[in-house]
Amino acid sequence: MENYQELWKAVLGELELQISRPNFLTWLKQSQIVDKNEKENVIFIGLPNNFAREWVKNKYHKIIFNTLHNFDPSLKAIEYVVFNSEKNSFASLVSSEKKSKTATPLSPSKAPFSLLDLKIDPKTNLNPRYTFSSFVVGSSNELAYAAAMAIVKEIGQKYNPFFVYGGVGLGKTHLLQATGNEIKKNYQNKVSVFYTTSEKFVNDVVWAIRNKQMDDIKKKYRNVDVLIIDDIQFIGGKERSEEEFFHTFNVLYENNKQIIISSDRPPSAIPTLTERLRSRFEGGMIADITYPDYEMRLAILKNKIQERGVFLEEKILEQIALKIQKNIRELEGVLNKVIFYQEYKKERIDNQKLEEILSEISETASKNITINDIIKAVANFYDVAVNEIIERSRRQAVVEPRQVAMYLLRDILNLSYPHIGEKIGKRDHTTAIHAYEKISRDINRNAAFNQKIMMIKEKIFKNS
Ligand code: ADP
Ligand code: MG
Repeated sequence: MENYQELWKAVLGELELQISRPNFLTWLKQSQIVDKNEKENVIFIGLPNNFAREWVKNKYHKIIFNTLHNFDPSLKAIEYVVFNSEKNSFASLVSSEKKSKTATPLSPSKAPFSLLDLKIDPKTNLNPRYTFSSFVVGSSNELAYAAAMAIVKEIGQKYNPFFVYGGVGLGKTHLLQATGNEIKKNYQNKVSVFYTTSEKFVNDVVWAIRNKQMDDIKKKYRNVDVLIIDDIQFIGGKERSEEEFFHTFNVLYENNKQIIISSDRPPSAIPTLTERLRSRFEGGMIADITYPDYEMRLAILKNKIQERGVFLEEKILEQIALKIQKNIRELEGVLNKVIFYQEYKKERIDNQKLEEILSEISETASKNITINDIIKAVANFYDVAVNEIIERSRRQAVVEPRQVAMYLLRDILNLSYPHIGEKIGKRDHTTAIHAYEKISRDINRNAAFNQKIMMIKEKIFKNS
Protein backbone atom coordinates (compact mmCIF):
# COMPACT_ATOMS: atom_id res chain seq x y z
CA MET A 1 0.00 0.00 0.00
CA GLU A 2 1.59 3.18 -1.15
CA ASN A 3 -0.76 5.74 0.02
CA TYR A 4 -1.86 5.53 3.62
CA GLN A 5 -4.21 8.43 3.41
CA GLU A 6 -6.18 6.87 0.60
CA LEU A 7 -6.18 3.60 2.46
CA TRP A 8 -7.45 5.22 5.61
CA LYS A 9 -10.13 7.08 3.73
CA ALA A 10 -11.36 3.81 2.34
CA VAL A 11 -11.29 2.21 5.79
CA LEU A 12 -13.21 5.13 7.25
CA GLY A 13 -15.75 4.76 4.47
CA GLU A 14 -16.35 1.21 5.66
CA LEU A 15 -16.35 2.08 9.34
CA GLU A 16 -18.85 4.82 8.75
CA LEU A 17 -21.33 2.17 7.73
CA GLN A 18 -20.78 0.07 10.80
CA ILE A 19 -20.74 2.71 13.51
CA SER A 20 -23.49 5.14 14.38
CA ARG A 21 -23.06 8.52 12.82
CA PRO A 22 -22.53 10.47 16.09
CA ASN A 23 -19.97 7.97 17.29
CA PHE A 24 -18.23 8.04 13.98
CA LEU A 25 -18.07 11.81 14.01
CA THR A 26 -16.98 11.99 17.61
CA TRP A 27 -14.35 9.31 17.65
CA LEU A 28 -13.15 8.44 14.20
CA LYS A 29 -13.48 11.44 12.01
CA GLN A 30 -10.26 12.90 13.30
CA SER A 31 -8.30 9.67 13.19
CA GLN A 32 -5.53 9.00 10.73
CA ILE A 33 -2.80 6.57 9.89
CA VAL A 34 0.35 8.26 11.09
CA ASP A 35 2.90 5.58 10.50
CA LYS A 36 3.56 2.02 9.54
CA ASN A 37 6.29 -0.26 10.68
CA GLU A 38 6.81 -2.20 7.48
CA LYS A 39 8.98 -4.85 9.05
CA GLU A 40 6.62 -5.76 11.81
CA ASN A 41 3.48 -4.89 9.90
CA VAL A 42 2.20 -2.63 12.63
CA ILE A 43 0.05 0.30 11.67
CA PHE A 44 -0.07 3.33 13.94
CA ILE A 45 -3.36 5.10 14.16
CA GLY A 46 -3.34 8.61 15.53
CA LEU A 47 -6.13 10.10 17.61
CA PRO A 48 -6.29 13.72 18.72
CA ASN A 49 -6.07 13.11 22.45
CA ASN A 50 -5.62 10.50 25.12
CA PHE A 51 -9.26 10.14 25.83
CA ALA A 52 -10.13 9.46 22.22
CA ARG A 53 -7.23 7.02 21.98
CA GLU A 54 -8.44 4.99 24.95
CA TRP A 55 -12.00 5.07 23.77
CA VAL A 56 -11.25 3.99 20.23
CA LYS A 57 -8.85 1.31 21.39
CA ASN A 58 -11.39 -0.15 23.79
CA LYS A 59 -14.50 0.12 21.71
CA TYR A 60 -13.51 -0.06 18.10
CA HIS A 61 -10.26 -1.98 17.91
CA LYS A 62 -11.87 -5.15 16.67
CA ILE A 63 -13.78 -3.63 13.82
CA ILE A 64 -10.93 -1.34 12.85
CA PHE A 65 -8.57 -4.26 12.80
CA ASN A 66 -10.88 -6.41 10.72
CA THR A 67 -11.59 -3.67 8.25
CA LEU A 68 -7.97 -2.68 7.89
CA HIS A 69 -6.97 -6.30 7.60
CA ASN A 70 -9.31 -6.75 4.66
CA PHE A 71 -7.37 -4.12 2.80
CA ASP A 72 -3.96 -5.08 3.98
CA PRO A 73 -3.79 -8.77 4.79
CA SER A 74 -0.19 -8.45 5.92
CA LEU A 75 -1.32 -6.37 8.89
CA LYS A 76 -0.29 -7.90 12.21
CA ALA A 77 -1.13 -5.30 14.82
CA ILE A 78 -2.44 -1.82 15.38
CA GLU A 79 -1.06 0.64 17.85
CA TYR A 80 -3.08 3.64 18.89
CA VAL A 81 -1.17 6.82 19.51
CA VAL A 82 -1.96 10.39 20.32
CA PHE A 83 -1.16 12.39 17.27
CA ASN A 84 -1.83 16.06 17.24
CA SER A 85 -1.83 17.08 13.62
CA GLU A 86 -1.95 20.72 14.61
CA LYS A 87 1.38 20.35 16.26
CA ASN A 88 2.49 17.71 13.80
CA SER A 89 3.89 15.61 16.51
CA PHE A 90 3.30 12.57 18.57
CA ALA A 91 2.14 14.11 21.81
CA SER A 92 2.42 10.89 23.68
CA LEU A 93 3.32 7.53 22.36
CA VAL A 94 1.92 4.08 22.47
CA SER A 95 0.13 3.23 25.68
CA SER A 96 2.74 2.66 28.32
CA GLU A 97 1.82 -0.93 29.10
CA LYS A 98 2.91 -1.92 25.62
CA LYS A 99 6.43 -0.91 25.01
CA SER A 100 7.78 -3.50 22.66
CA LYS A 101 10.94 -2.12 21.16
CA THR A 102 10.10 -2.78 17.56
CA ALA A 103 6.68 -1.29 17.74
CA THR A 104 7.81 2.13 18.82
CA PRO A 105 6.66 4.59 16.24
CA LEU A 106 9.24 6.20 14.06
CA SER A 107 9.70 9.86 14.50
CA PRO A 108 7.48 11.75 12.11
CA SER A 109 10.40 12.70 9.92
CA LYS A 110 11.09 9.06 9.23
CA ALA A 111 7.52 8.27 8.43
CA PRO A 112 7.26 6.30 5.21
CA PHE A 113 4.93 8.74 3.53
CA SER A 114 4.70 12.44 3.34
CA LEU A 115 3.20 13.98 6.43
CA LEU A 116 2.96 17.18 4.47
CA ASP A 117 -0.54 16.31 3.44
CA LEU A 118 -1.77 16.40 7.00
CA LYS A 119 0.04 19.50 7.99
CA ILE A 120 -2.08 22.10 9.62
CA ASP A 121 -0.05 25.24 9.97
CA PRO A 122 0.39 25.62 13.74
CA LYS A 123 0.71 29.38 13.49
CA THR A 124 -2.54 29.97 11.66
CA ASN A 125 -4.40 26.73 12.37
CA LEU A 126 -5.19 26.57 8.68
CA ASN A 127 -5.42 23.35 6.75
CA PRO A 128 -3.75 23.79 3.36
CA ARG A 129 -6.21 21.39 1.76
CA TYR A 130 -8.84 24.12 1.65
CA THR A 131 -8.10 26.47 -1.21
CA PHE A 132 -10.05 28.64 -3.58
CA SER A 133 -8.82 26.60 -6.50
CA SER A 134 -10.61 23.56 -5.12
CA PHE A 135 -13.72 25.57 -4.28
CA VAL A 136 -16.41 25.33 -6.90
CA VAL A 137 -18.48 28.48 -7.23
CA GLY A 138 -22.14 28.44 -8.23
CA SER A 139 -25.32 30.31 -7.53
CA SER A 140 -25.56 28.83 -4.03
CA ASN A 141 -22.33 30.38 -2.81
CA GLU A 142 -21.34 33.13 -5.22
CA LEU A 143 -22.18 35.99 -2.91
CA ALA A 144 -20.17 34.52 -0.06
CA TYR A 145 -17.34 33.78 -2.45
CA ALA A 146 -17.32 37.29 -3.90
CA ALA A 147 -17.23 38.82 -0.43
CA ALA A 148 -14.36 36.55 0.56
CA MET A 149 -12.40 37.57 -2.52
CA ALA A 150 -13.02 41.23 -1.77
CA ILE A 151 -11.74 40.71 1.75
CA VAL A 152 -8.52 39.18 0.47
CA LYS A 153 -7.97 42.36 -1.54
CA GLU A 154 -8.89 44.83 1.17
CA ILE A 155 -8.44 43.25 4.53
CA GLY A 156 -10.41 44.78 7.35
CA GLN A 157 -12.04 47.43 5.26
CA LYS A 158 -14.98 46.62 3.11
CA TYR A 159 -16.73 43.69 4.66
CA ASN A 160 -16.09 43.70 8.33
CA PRO A 161 -17.15 41.58 10.08
CA PHE A 162 -17.96 39.02 7.43
CA PHE A 163 -20.62 36.58 8.57
CA VAL A 164 -21.31 33.46 6.49
CA TYR A 165 -24.10 31.09 7.34
CA GLY A 166 -25.56 27.91 5.89
CA GLY A 167 -26.48 24.31 6.66
CA VAL A 168 -24.16 21.45 7.45
CA GLY A 169 -21.70 20.35 4.83
CA LEU A 170 -22.29 23.20 2.41
CA GLY A 171 -18.78 24.62 2.43
CA LYS A 172 -18.53 27.19 5.21
CA THR A 173 -15.35 25.81 6.69
CA HIS A 174 -13.87 25.37 3.24
CA LEU A 175 -14.61 28.98 2.33
CA LEU A 176 -13.29 30.38 5.61
CA GLN A 177 -10.10 28.39 5.48
CA ALA A 178 -9.55 29.11 1.80
CA THR A 179 -9.84 32.82 2.58
CA GLY A 180 -7.22 32.47 5.29
CA ASN A 181 -4.93 30.46 3.06
CA GLU A 182 -5.29 32.93 0.22
CA ILE A 183 -4.41 35.82 2.52
CA LYS A 184 -1.36 33.92 3.75
CA LYS A 185 -0.33 33.25 0.18
CA ASN A 186 -0.73 36.84 -0.96
CA TYR A 187 0.68 38.67 2.03
CA GLN A 188 3.03 36.08 3.52
CA ASN A 189 4.25 37.26 6.89
CA LYS A 190 2.92 40.77 6.61
CA VAL A 191 -0.54 39.76 7.69
CA SER A 192 -1.19 37.37 10.56
CA VAL A 193 -4.15 35.04 10.27
CA PHE A 194 -5.65 32.86 12.95
CA TYR A 195 -8.37 30.27 12.45
CA THR A 196 -10.31 28.66 15.25
CA THR A 197 -13.71 27.26 16.05
CA SER A 198 -15.96 28.74 18.69
CA GLU A 199 -15.69 25.47 20.60
CA LYS A 200 -11.94 25.85 20.80
CA PHE A 201 -12.36 29.45 21.79
CA VAL A 202 -14.71 28.45 24.60
CA ASN A 203 -12.26 25.78 25.73
CA ASP A 204 -9.49 28.34 25.80
CA VAL A 205 -11.56 30.71 27.88
CA VAL A 206 -12.57 28.00 30.32
CA TRP A 207 -8.96 26.92 30.64
CA ALA A 208 -7.76 30.48 31.11
CA ILE A 209 -10.29 31.19 33.81
CA ARG A 210 -9.38 28.05 35.67
CA ASN A 211 -5.67 28.79 35.44
CA LYS A 212 -5.96 32.52 35.86
CA GLN A 213 -4.31 33.14 32.52
CA MET A 214 -6.72 35.51 30.86
CA ASP A 215 -3.82 37.52 29.52
CA ASP A 216 -2.86 34.56 27.37
CA ILE A 217 -6.23 34.62 25.70
CA LYS A 218 -5.94 38.30 25.04
CA LYS A 219 -2.52 37.87 23.50
CA LYS A 220 -3.58 34.95 21.40
CA TYR A 221 -6.72 36.43 19.92
CA ARG A 222 -6.18 40.14 19.93
CA ASN A 223 -2.83 40.33 18.20
CA VAL A 224 -3.92 39.10 14.81
CA ASP A 225 -4.80 40.89 11.62
CA VAL A 226 -7.41 38.38 10.54
CA LEU A 227 -9.41 36.35 13.04
CA ILE A 228 -11.52 33.54 11.63
CA ILE A 229 -14.05 31.87 13.91
CA ASP A 230 -15.93 28.87 12.61
CA ASP A 231 -19.33 27.73 13.89
CA ILE A 232 -19.96 30.67 16.17
CA GLN A 233 -23.39 29.31 17.14
CA PHE A 234 -21.78 27.22 19.87
CA ILE A 235 -20.72 30.29 21.76
CA GLY A 236 -24.33 31.33 22.43
CA GLY A 237 -25.22 30.99 26.09
CA LYS A 238 -21.65 30.57 27.26
CA GLU A 239 -21.52 33.82 29.13
CA ARG A 240 -17.88 34.29 29.94
CA SER A 241 -16.81 33.23 26.47
CA GLU A 242 -19.30 35.53 24.82
CA GLU A 243 -18.09 38.36 26.99
CA GLU A 244 -14.49 37.66 26.13
CA PHE A 245 -15.32 37.31 22.47
CA PHE A 246 -17.22 40.59 22.53
CA HIS A 247 -14.17 42.42 23.85
CA THR A 248 -11.87 40.66 21.43
CA PHE A 249 -14.23 41.59 18.65
CA ASN A 250 -14.25 45.24 19.66
CA VAL A 251 -10.49 45.51 19.95
CA LEU A 252 -9.96 43.96 16.55
CA TYR A 253 -12.74 45.90 14.94
CA GLU A 254 -11.55 49.23 16.24
CA ASN A 255 -8.11 48.52 14.88
CA ASN A 256 -9.48 47.67 11.45
CA LYS A 257 -8.62 44.04 11.77
CA GLN A 258 -10.64 41.61 9.73
CA ILE A 259 -13.10 39.31 11.47
CA ILE A 260 -14.63 36.38 9.62
CA ILE A 261 -17.34 34.28 11.21
CA SER A 262 -19.43 31.31 10.19
CA SER A 263 -22.57 29.86 11.66
CA ASP A 264 -25.22 27.31 10.78
CA ARG A 265 -27.85 30.04 10.92
CA PRO A 266 -28.12 33.84 10.73
CA PRO A 267 -27.28 35.92 13.80
CA SER A 268 -30.95 36.59 14.45
CA ALA A 269 -31.60 32.87 14.87
CA ILE A 270 -28.96 32.07 17.45
CA PRO A 271 -31.30 32.04 20.42
CA THR A 272 -28.93 32.74 23.25
CA LEU A 273 -26.65 35.25 21.63
CA THR A 274 -26.53 38.51 23.54
CA GLU A 275 -28.09 41.43 21.79
CA ARG A 276 -24.92 43.47 21.58
CA LEU A 277 -23.00 40.67 19.89
CA ARG A 278 -25.86 40.06 17.51
CA SER A 279 -26.00 43.67 16.46
CA ARG A 280 -22.22 43.65 15.95
CA PHE A 281 -22.57 40.71 13.58
CA GLU A 282 -25.43 42.33 11.77
CA GLY A 283 -23.42 45.50 11.28
CA GLY A 284 -21.14 43.88 8.73
CA MET A 285 -21.53 41.78 5.63
CA ILE A 286 -23.79 38.75 5.87
CA ALA A 287 -23.89 36.10 3.16
CA ASP A 288 -25.55 32.72 3.09
CA ILE A 289 -24.60 29.51 1.37
CA THR A 290 -27.53 27.45 0.16
CA TYR A 291 -27.95 24.07 -1.49
CA PRO A 292 -25.95 23.56 -4.66
CA ASP A 293 -27.89 22.92 -7.86
CA TYR A 294 -27.33 19.94 -10.11
CA GLU A 295 -24.70 21.57 -12.33
CA MET A 296 -22.72 22.65 -9.33
CA ARG A 297 -22.89 19.24 -7.72
CA LEU A 298 -21.63 17.68 -10.91
CA ALA A 299 -18.84 20.26 -11.13
CA ILE A 300 -17.82 19.49 -7.55
CA LEU A 301 -17.66 15.78 -8.28
CA LYS A 302 -15.54 16.35 -11.37
CA ASN A 303 -13.27 18.61 -9.43
CA LYS A 304 -12.82 16.01 -6.69
CA ILE A 305 -11.99 13.11 -8.97
CA GLN A 306 -9.45 15.25 -10.73
CA GLU A 307 -7.88 16.13 -7.41
CA ARG A 308 -7.76 12.49 -6.49
CA GLY A 309 -6.44 11.46 -9.87
CA VAL A 310 -9.04 8.80 -10.52
CA PHE A 311 -11.35 8.22 -13.40
CA LEU A 312 -15.07 7.64 -13.18
CA GLU A 313 -17.58 7.50 -15.98
CA GLU A 314 -19.55 10.66 -16.63
CA LYS A 315 -22.75 8.68 -16.38
CA ILE A 316 -21.91 7.62 -12.84
CA LEU A 317 -21.01 11.13 -11.76
CA GLU A 318 -24.30 12.36 -13.15
CA GLN A 319 -26.18 9.74 -11.20
CA ILE A 320 -24.47 10.71 -7.97
CA ALA A 321 -25.13 14.39 -8.56
CA LEU A 322 -28.76 13.58 -9.26
CA LYS A 323 -29.24 11.51 -6.14
CA ILE A 324 -27.37 13.48 -3.48
CA GLN A 325 -28.86 16.91 -3.27
CA LYS A 326 -28.47 18.51 0.06
CA ASN A 327 -25.00 18.16 1.35
CA ILE A 328 -21.61 18.43 -0.27
CA ARG A 329 -20.01 16.40 2.47
CA GLU A 330 -22.39 13.57 1.68
CA LEU A 331 -21.61 13.99 -1.99
CA GLU A 332 -17.97 13.47 -1.15
CA GLY A 333 -18.84 10.53 1.07
CA VAL A 334 -20.60 8.72 -1.75
CA LEU A 335 -17.79 9.55 -4.13
CA ASN A 336 -15.23 8.17 -1.67
CA LYS A 337 -17.16 4.98 -1.41
CA VAL A 338 -17.48 4.62 -5.16
CA ILE A 339 -13.76 5.24 -5.58
CA PHE A 340 -13.08 2.71 -2.89
CA TYR A 341 -15.05 0.02 -4.69
CA GLN A 342 -13.39 0.81 -7.96
CA GLU A 343 -9.81 1.32 -6.85
CA TYR A 344 -9.48 -1.13 -3.98
CA LYS A 345 -12.04 -3.78 -4.65
CA LYS A 346 -11.47 -3.48 -8.37
CA GLU A 347 -15.16 -3.65 -9.09
CA ARG A 348 -16.75 -2.14 -12.11
CA ILE A 349 -19.06 0.67 -11.17
CA ASP A 350 -22.21 0.52 -13.20
CA ASN A 351 -25.64 1.85 -12.38
CA GLN A 352 -26.59 -1.21 -10.41
CA LYS A 353 -23.45 -1.13 -8.29
CA LEU A 354 -24.02 2.56 -7.63
CA GLU A 355 -27.57 1.81 -6.51
CA GLU A 356 -26.21 -0.77 -4.10
CA ILE A 357 -23.72 1.68 -2.69
CA LEU A 358 -26.31 4.38 -2.30
CA SER A 359 -28.77 2.10 -0.56
CA GLU A 360 -26.07 0.87 1.82
CA ILE A 361 -25.36 4.46 2.75
CA SER A 362 -28.96 5.53 3.18
CA GLU A 363 -29.73 2.50 5.35
CA THR A 364 -27.19 3.62 7.91
CA ALA A 365 -28.14 7.25 7.67
CA SER A 366 -31.86 6.96 8.04
CA LYS A 367 -32.35 4.59 10.90
CA ASN A 368 -35.72 5.86 11.95
CA ILE A 369 -35.15 7.13 15.41
CA THR A 370 -38.23 8.38 17.22
CA ILE A 371 -38.79 10.69 20.15
CA ASN A 372 -39.80 7.66 22.17
CA ASP A 373 -36.62 5.77 21.34
CA ILE A 374 -34.63 8.61 22.79
CA ILE A 375 -36.66 9.09 25.93
CA LYS A 376 -36.76 5.35 26.55
CA ALA A 377 -33.02 4.98 26.18
CA VAL A 378 -32.39 7.83 28.58
CA ALA A 379 -34.86 6.45 31.13
CA ASN A 380 -33.25 3.06 30.83
CA PHE A 381 -29.79 4.39 31.24
CA TYR A 382 -30.62 6.36 34.38
CA ASP A 383 -33.00 3.73 35.63
CA VAL A 384 -35.95 6.07 36.01
CA ALA A 385 -39.46 5.70 34.62
CA VAL A 386 -40.30 7.23 31.24
CA ASN A 387 -43.27 8.91 32.85
CA GLU A 388 -41.10 10.67 35.34
CA ILE A 389 -39.12 12.24 32.52
CA ILE A 390 -42.12 13.46 30.59
CA GLU A 391 -44.23 14.49 33.55
CA ARG A 392 -43.60 17.41 35.80
CA SER A 393 -41.99 15.46 38.59
CA ARG A 394 -39.69 17.50 40.77
CA ARG A 395 -37.65 14.61 42.01
CA GLN A 396 -33.96 15.54 41.98
CA ALA A 397 -33.00 12.23 40.40
CA VAL A 398 -34.83 13.06 37.18
CA VAL A 399 -33.33 16.49 36.63
CA GLU A 400 -30.30 15.26 34.73
CA PRO A 401 -32.11 12.57 32.70
CA ARG A 402 -34.68 15.11 31.67
CA GLN A 403 -32.05 17.58 30.54
CA VAL A 404 -30.17 14.88 28.69
CA ALA A 405 -33.37 13.80 26.95
CA MET A 406 -34.00 17.38 25.85
CA TYR A 407 -30.44 17.69 24.64
CA LEU A 408 -30.64 14.49 22.62
CA LEU A 409 -33.99 15.38 21.05
CA ARG A 410 -32.32 18.47 19.71
CA ASP A 411 -29.02 16.89 18.87
CA ILE A 412 -30.31 13.78 17.10
CA LEU A 413 -33.71 14.79 15.78
CA ASN A 414 -33.14 18.50 15.50
CA LEU A 415 -36.53 19.20 17.06
CA SER A 416 -37.44 22.81 17.72
CA TYR A 417 -37.14 24.03 21.30
CA PRO A 418 -40.87 24.67 21.71
CA HIS A 419 -41.56 21.15 20.44
CA ILE A 420 -39.06 19.70 22.93
CA GLY A 421 -40.56 21.70 25.78
CA GLU A 422 -44.00 20.46 24.82
CA LYS A 423 -42.89 16.82 24.75
CA ILE A 424 -41.02 16.91 28.02
CA GLY A 425 -43.24 18.07 30.82
CA LYS A 426 -45.10 20.76 28.87
CA ARG A 427 -42.40 23.22 29.59
CA ASP A 428 -41.50 26.53 28.09
CA HIS A 429 -39.03 26.58 25.20
CA THR A 430 -36.51 28.47 27.35
CA THR A 431 -36.26 25.42 29.62
CA ALA A 432 -35.34 23.34 26.58
CA ILE A 433 -32.77 25.88 25.45
CA HIS A 434 -31.29 26.00 28.90
CA ALA A 435 -31.09 22.21 29.07
CA TYR A 436 -29.46 22.02 25.67
CA GLU A 437 -26.89 24.66 26.54
CA LYS A 438 -26.11 23.13 29.91
CA ILE A 439 -25.59 19.63 28.57
CA SER A 440 -23.47 20.93 25.66
CA ARG A 441 -21.35 22.80 28.13
CA ASP A 442 -20.92 19.79 30.38
CA ILE A 443 -19.99 17.62 27.43
CA ASN A 444 -17.32 20.13 26.53
CA ARG A 445 -15.93 20.40 29.99
CA ASN A 446 -16.18 16.94 31.33
CA ALA A 447 -14.78 13.93 29.53
CA ALA A 448 -16.57 11.44 31.76
CA PHE A 449 -19.88 13.13 31.14
CA ASN A 450 -19.20 13.15 27.44
CA GLN A 451 -18.59 9.44 27.63
CA LYS A 452 -21.90 8.95 29.38
CA ILE A 453 -23.75 10.80 26.63
CA MET A 454 -21.96 8.79 23.98
CA MET A 455 -23.02 5.58 25.69
CA ILE A 456 -26.63 6.67 25.70
CA LYS A 457 -26.38 7.61 22.05
CA GLU A 458 -24.91 4.26 21.23
CA LYS A 459 -27.89 2.58 22.88
CA ILE A 460 -30.29 4.73 20.92
CA PHE A 461 -28.67 3.90 17.61
CA LYS A 462 -28.31 0.24 18.39
CA ASN A 463 -31.87 -0.35 19.51
CA SER A 464 -33.70 1.49 16.80
P1 ADP B 1 -19.52 23.15 6.48
O1 ADP B 1 -18.38 23.79 7.20
O2 ADP B 1 -20.47 24.14 5.88
O3 ADP B 1 -20.23 22.12 7.29
P2 ADP B 1 -17.41 22.10 4.83
O4 ADP B 1 -16.71 23.35 4.46
O5 ADP B 1 -16.79 21.26 5.86
O6 ADP B 1 -18.93 22.38 5.22
O7 ADP B 1 -17.64 21.27 3.49
C1 ADP B 1 -17.90 19.89 3.48
C2 ADP B 1 -17.08 19.23 2.41
O8 ADP B 1 -17.51 19.64 1.12
C3 ADP B 1 -15.61 19.60 2.50
O9 ADP B 1 -14.83 18.48 2.23
C4 ADP B 1 -15.43 20.66 1.45
O10 ADP B 1 -14.13 20.65 0.92
C5 ADP B 1 -16.46 20.27 0.42
N1 ADP B 1 -17.02 21.45 -0.25
C6 ADP B 1 -17.94 22.29 0.25
N2 ADP B 1 -18.23 23.27 -0.63
C7 ADP B 1 -17.47 23.04 -1.72
C8 ADP B 1 -17.33 23.71 -2.97
N3 ADP B 1 -18.04 24.79 -3.28
N4 ADP B 1 -16.43 23.19 -3.85
C9 ADP B 1 -15.74 22.09 -3.55
N5 ADP B 1 -15.84 21.42 -2.39
C10 ADP B 1 -16.70 21.87 -1.48
MG1 MG C 1 -17.72 23.56 9.15
